[in-house]
Parts: sequence; structure tokens; C-alpha cells
Amino acid sequence: MIKVERIRKDLETLARFTATPGKGVTRMAFTPEERQARDYLEQEMRSIGLEVYTDAAGNLFGRRAGREPGAPVVMLGSHIDSVKSGGPFDGAAGVVAALEIARALQELGKETVHPIEVVVMTEEEGARFGSGLYGSRAMVDGISPEEMTGTFDEEGISKAEAMRAFGLDPDRVREAVRKPGSVKAFLELHIEQGPILEAAGTKIGIVESIVGIKTIFVTINGSADHAGTTPMPMRRDALVGASQVITAINRIAREAGENTVGTVGMLQVKPGSSNVVPAEVKFSIDFRDGKNEVIERVEREIKKELAAVCEAANLTYTWEEALAVPPVATEPKIIDIVAEAARRRNISYRLMPSGAGHDAMVMARLAPVGLLFVPSRGGKSHCPEEWTDYEDIALGAELYLDAVLALAQ
Ligand SMILES: [Zn+2]
Repeated sequence: MIKVERIRKDLETLARFTATPGKGVTRMAFTPEERQARDYLEQEMRSIGLEVYTDAAGNLFGRRAGREPGAPVVMLGSHIDSVKSGGPFDGAAGVVAALEIARALQELGKETVHPIEVVVMTEEEGARFGSGLYGSRAMVDGISPEEMTGTFDEEGISKAEAMRAFGLDPDRVREAVRKPGSVKAFLELHIEQGPILEAAGTKIGIVESIVGIKTIFVTINGSADHAGTTPMPMRRDALVGASQVITAINRIAREAGENTVGTVGMLQVKPGSSNVVPAEVKFSIDFRDGKNEVIERVEREIKKELAAVCEAANLTYTWEEALAVPPVATEPKIIDIVAEAARRRNISYRLMPSGAGHDAMVMARLAPVGLLFVPSRGGKSHCPEEWTDYEDIALGAELYLDAVLALAQ
């Protein structure tokens, strides 16, 4: 069955394959560090009898045959690349959990109807070429030739060149696309990267939805007047207006529900002089929720507030939508299987949204997906201090072992 010692050994081994020893894990796509990690994983997969192959995009697979060779595959895994000086668990925890589940299946000698594939995705973070979720997009949408030749790392090497140097043929990248119906389900275990599970003392987060995101840029226009000679009632101060709206955004997000977040992270003031009344303020709004209707309601309320503030202060405004990503729902049937497995084993869990995007978000366009979170110490991630207890990863793997058996039968 699931053995925490093997999970520990895998993660400790993978953590050594870094470009920045002593400063966290730096393992970017198509680098010597990634090659070392792949070699290790390949060897582990082979040693338990999985059939190893790499797809045209560079995703690595370990396949366990099913009774019906042509049946849709149950796929599980995560990514192996990291950010610069990131932690040893982001991505790797899900890859190692998937590998351990495959080991347990082999030991149990369980035959399944559907084939099972452990997947090791690449360039999820986008830390090298700036184009994240590459491995999953290559399977679901296909990667365009423009992306292959038009995205570069810091040294000016294109993704196509890096792949060629890695022994892959970038011209064949579209062969990585999976046919609709060829994947029965995709399961990903990931560290939470937030503080909720640890704070609640809960072992497992079963993700119900991956949040949708809206990014808006608002510009408020007033007039630039002398800070000494213009009486207060005659001013059209764009920054005073913006500050009222920004305060309201925080309130609206708080009142919308415990899963809603709203952030103003960018503010530009023009002319930006201590002795001139601000004439123009541009600021960003980022708001997220797991439900589309909540996102739409929050947007309406913010717009209403903005219009009212500008009306009262004789200001004008523009509203420019820069990004709109709809929420993605995970598969209710998979949620039920995992929740039932948790209850049976007396493992604490909660249903929650994911505030960050993961490969599962992309894979949901191809197949029903499941996403499990395990606790992150202090909520920290993308830094060397990132930590998740090996025992918690093992608990997640146990729940997914049940799910894989249920889905692959
Ligand atoms: Zn990740």
C-alpha cells in the first residue's frame, strides 16, 4: 500500500536536482536539472514495470496497461518544473503521489479495465519561457508554432531551440494533443500553497472549483489644479475618487463571501507631483471566486460604486477588461469518491476552491478532473521554506488510490 518512506525518498531525491543548491529548488523546463529528475522518475517507473514514454511536447508518462488496451486512460500526476528558488513540493508532491499510487497498484496486483498513466508535466510554472501550463495545454489545445519560436528564456533561447537541445522535435509538438474521449479522468494532488488547511487542522482539501479571475484597469480623470490656490469644493481630485472606490472594492469582496478575494495592486497617479491635485489615476482590480454568478455580482457592485463616486465628485472614468478567466468545476463524481474514502479512513477533509490555476484547470477541457490539496506549512510556497509533511502527502495518495481503482474498473 502507500508507503510514506518511499514518498520521502522520492521528494528528497528530486529536491537535489536543482540549479541553486542551498537556495531552494530551481528546476526549469528542458534543463540539466530537469533531465536528472526525469531520469530518476523514469528509472522508478521502469523498476515497477510501467511502460515509459515521452510525448511530443516533452511530458513524461509511465503507463500501466488495462484489460482493454484501447479504453480511455485514467491519468494522474502534476508538474516537475519549479519557479526560481522555489520549494521542493510544488508540483513534485503530485508527481510523487502518482508514482506511489502506481507502486501500490503493482503490489496489490490489481488489474484494471482502463489503462493508468502517471504523468510528469513540464513548464507548468512558466518560469523559463513565461508561458505557463505548457505541458497540459500541449495535450488539450496544442501549442502554436508562434509560441514555440516566439517565447524566449532570459538568455534569448526559444522554446523550440531548448526542446531541440533536449532531444525533442519542436515541429512535432502538435502530436501531443490527446483525442477527445481518450482520457477518462485526470487526477492531480497539489500542495495548497495557502494557509487554510493548516489553520483549520484539516488534512485534505477537496477542490470543488478553480477560481475564475477578472482583471480590470480603471482610469479616473479629474483635473490638475494648483494645490495651493484651488479651494477644496472646486477640486476634481482623481485620487480622492479612486481611494473611495478602492476602499469599496475591499468591502464588496469581504461581503461577497468567504471565497471571494479582491485586490488593487497597481496604482499610477498623474501628474504625480506633491503640489498638484491628481488629474488622472489608473489602477488595477483583480477579483476571483469559484462561482461565475458571484464574479458577475461583484463586478456589477464595483461598477455601481465607481459610477456613483465619479458622479458625486464630477469625475469621469474608463473601465477596461484585461483578463476574464471563467471558473472551472471539478468532477462531482470524483469529489464524492474521494470524500467517501476520507470518511471511511477517518481523514479530515473540507471542500474548497482553488485560488491558483493548476494543470487540472486546463485538463478539465479534455476530461473530468479531480484536484486534492494537502496542507502547506504557514501557507508558504514558491520559496525555499515551502513545506508539506510527507505523511499528509501519503494520506492524499491513499484517497486517490481508492479513486483510481473506482475510475479504472
Ligand atoms: Zn504547482
